[in-house]
Amino acid sequence: MKLTTKILIGLLLGAAVGLFLHFSAPDLFTTLDTYIFSPLGTIFLNLIKMLVVPIVFFSITLGVASLGDPKKLGRIGGKTIAFFLATTTVAITIAIALAYIFQPGSGNFNTAGAEYESQEAPTVIETFTNIIPTNPIQAMTEANMLQIIAFSIFIGFALAMLGKKTESVMRVIEQGNEIMMFLVNVIMKFAPYGAFGLLASAIGTMGLDGAKAMAAYMLVVIVVLFIHLFAVYGSAVSFLGKMNPIFFFKKFFPAATVAFSTSSSSATLPISMKTAQEELKVPKPVSSFVQPLGATINMDGTAIMQGVATIFIAQVYATDLAFSQLVMVVVVAVLASIGTAGVPGVGLIMLAMVLNQVALPVEGIALILGIDRLLDMLRTAVNVYGDAACAVVVAESEKKHGIPEQPAAEEIS
Ligand code: ASP
Repeated sequence: MKLTTKILIGLLLGAAVGLFLHFSAPDLFTTLDTYIFSPLGTIFLNLIKMLVVPIVFFSITLGVASLGDPKKLGRIGGKTIAFFLATTTVAITIAIALAYIFQPGSGNFNTAGAEYESQEAPTVIETFTNIIPTNPIQAMTEANMLQIIAFSIFIGFALAMLGKKTESVMRVIEQGNEIMMFLVNVIMKFAPYGAFGLLASAIGTMGLDGAKAMAAYMLVVIVVLFIHLFAVYGSAVSFLGKMNPIFFFKKFFPAATVAFSTSSSSATLPISMKTAQEELKVPKPVSSFVQPLGATINMDGTAIMQGVATIFIAQVYATDLAFSQLVMVVVVAVLASIGTAGVPGVGLIMLAMVLNQVALPVEGIALILGIDRLLDMLRTAVNVYGDAACAVVVAESEKKHGIPEQPAAEEIS
């Protein structure tokens, strides 16, 4: 049986078992969750998270080193950022438009007891100035993605410039990368069990509580996620990436199922890179640069949730937003999604920033809190598809310049 099929079975079985226990035997669920479901999920999450920092370091360093020319890096970087910004802006615009059409917040919602304590989100300036790590080792121990990316770019650049002089370091990094990619394969064998544990635990804990009251909101978010996924990425991949979109969606699907079960773009990174490189044939230097950056700053699914949620909360609290405020929502949500770390639930924390910006009550978040875990799974899958779409598009546009493939370990040694 194929691994994807096994993961899907794990997901479905997990959801079914969780739902069944939630309604019929909540006590049994608590016991099973403590001893089986949560540990299974946590083991899987830890296994893949274990690889994230070394993979990002090795692969970006190697990617940048093999691009060689800093001009090339600048060009690829520019295209990547442009793609990210453009797709995120489109995502949030569709989200706002559909939320206006379907009015998910126009029903009766009881906001009397709604309370939400917003957490301090870093400001945009802080996010930017913090990109350069003052201590790269600390950046790695804290798994600070943007800082690791910045450090790796510097090291890769130095390796490219020093060439022969640093050949043996280059070899170590190349082989380190091989080791990590090999381990991804090994760990993925555990993915079906991990997916089962994660889903059983999540669905068993929340059941479908609140889903009925929030059905309209959820539906709008889900519809926009699908429109964005298929229409926007589909056309980007086929027109700009010259790739059959069905091939793209199908081949990248295994990574999406992992994103769905973990709700974390960062944790999914080792699998999404491997899938893009091996299945979508994205050259390693492009994939190594675009995907880690995307997993950190490109969150279209999150921006979609934030767009719909903002309009939803405005409707619930009967607040009219002027056109200029809507433009503000778009700009702030794009920045918020850049600042959102690729871990579960952060999108909701960053939503507070968007609401504050247009003076909407942050307590409104309490209304969507209960069902956000479910949507987080879907939007994370969209987030990683977005990074892969960008990698495909950038790779195609770089063809004319000729991208050097990274040499395999055995060729170097
Ligand atoms: N869980 C999302 C991700 O990792 C971020 C979020 O929207 O909360 O991509």
